[in-house]
Amino acid sequence: MLIVQKYGGTSVGNIERIRAVAERVAETKRQGNDVVVIVSAMSGETDKLIGLANQISSNAVEREMDLLLSSGERISAALTAIAINELGFKSMSFTGRQVGIITDDVHTKAKIEMITGERVRKALDKGIIPVIAGFQGITETSDVTTLGRGGSDLTAVAVAIALEADLCEIYTDVDGVYTTDPGIVPDARQLDKISYDEMLELASLGAKVFQTRSVEFAKKYGVPVVVRSSFNNNPGTLVVKEDREMEKVIVSGVAYDKNQAKITAIAVHDRPGIAAKLFNAIAGANIVVDMIVQNISSDGKSTDISFTVPETDSKKALKITKEIVAELGAKDVVLREDIAKVSIIGVGMRTHSGVAAKMFETLAKHGINIMMISTSEIKVSCIIDTKYTELAVRVLHDAFELGEGK
Ligand code: ADP
Ligand code: ASP
Ligand code: MG
Repeated sequence: MLIVQKYGGTSVGNIERIRAVAERVAETKRQGNDVVVIVSAMSGETDKLIGLANQISSNAVEREMDLLLSSGERISAALTAIAINELGFKSMSFTGRQVGIITDDVHTKAKIEMITGERVRKALDKGIIPVIAGFQGITETSDVTTLGRGGSDLTAVAVAIALEADLCEIYTDVDGVYTTDPGIVPDARQLDKISYDEMLELASLGAKVFQTRSVEFAKKYGVPVVVRSSFNNNPGTLVVKEDREMEKVIVSGVAYDKNQAKITAIAVHDRPGIAAKLFNAIAGANIVVDMIVQNISSDGKSTDISFTVPETDSKKALKITKEIVAELGAKDVVLREDIAKVSIIGVGMRTHSGVAAKMFETLAKHGINIMMISTSEIKVSCIIDTKYTELAVRVLHDAFELGEGK
């Protein structure tokens, strides 16, 4: 078998852990498999590098941020290759550029366009274990890019697709995918398997255990993925196509996302084309808008438009909104960063009613005010005050009886 193994930040967090990773890689090889390894930066490293840049500028040029951030993964890739060599196996580390990970030029959240993978294939042919620095690529004009936070997962899935690997293993610091973040709800239950669609919702709604765009890729190409712990040999969670059994479960998970900000343009003229103008400008800056609510004012002449964006893009989005609405005669533009999104997810919602009502009732019972709501056929999301996030996750997890032994 050809197995792609991705190790997250905690799994390569110190030398002892890097040695343990090397041992697991060696064991996979001993069992007769070919292995390609992808590593994240050592835990805390990416944040540390961001912190260094922030000490100089709150507005660093994104191209420079990318070169800076890509260095974290280079360090762990080289150290991991050194550790594998030390065990008597042949290993070589590679940067994104060296394995031909070509991306677009949207710095700090680039999309992979192509992987040539030639050097990886050559290395494999010679029995060498390639260790690839995750999270990074290169534009056609040779600028280094990064793939967004958690982007090493994407490197792993994309490499697995390019090499037509038999399996992609995502090694992390928990035993697999749980009904909710086990760091917040100790009672959370680990799932043996989860459908691509549910994983996609969980990830895009904030469960960082497996990055959203990686799930999209895995689904599109049908790559079998296992999320498991690098600290033990438990089997982990299989991310696979939906099956009959899964449809019986109405709600399978609760997710939260504190990286949210809400922008409200107050008293904008109510006439055709305004929303188009505003959201075109925001999309043009590569900012993803999530929820949008528009209320017609009582005089029928103006309207309030509220929308949410990732907090990391909120300053940029605020600036654009101010510019656009200045032309449209809005009264004011207000930014709130102390908001979070809590969501319930489950493919069984398609065929069950009353799920949303139960969610609202549960939040109300605990005095949690809902600011915005959005639904799709397999999820319901509410925007709430950040300070209630953990409480909301716990009470929803409980209300939908997701816990261990329920
Ligand atoms: P890595 O560094 O290995 O990529 P991450 O920190 O990106 O790890 O993701 C793992 C973390 O995701 C876990 O430690 C856990 O706190 C968090 N998490 C959030 N939601 C879930 C969930 N539903 N199931 C498992 N882990 C989750
Ligand atoms: N090191 C990057 C981050 O912290 C990428 C990753 O770990 O997947 O976001
Ligand atoms: Mg991660």
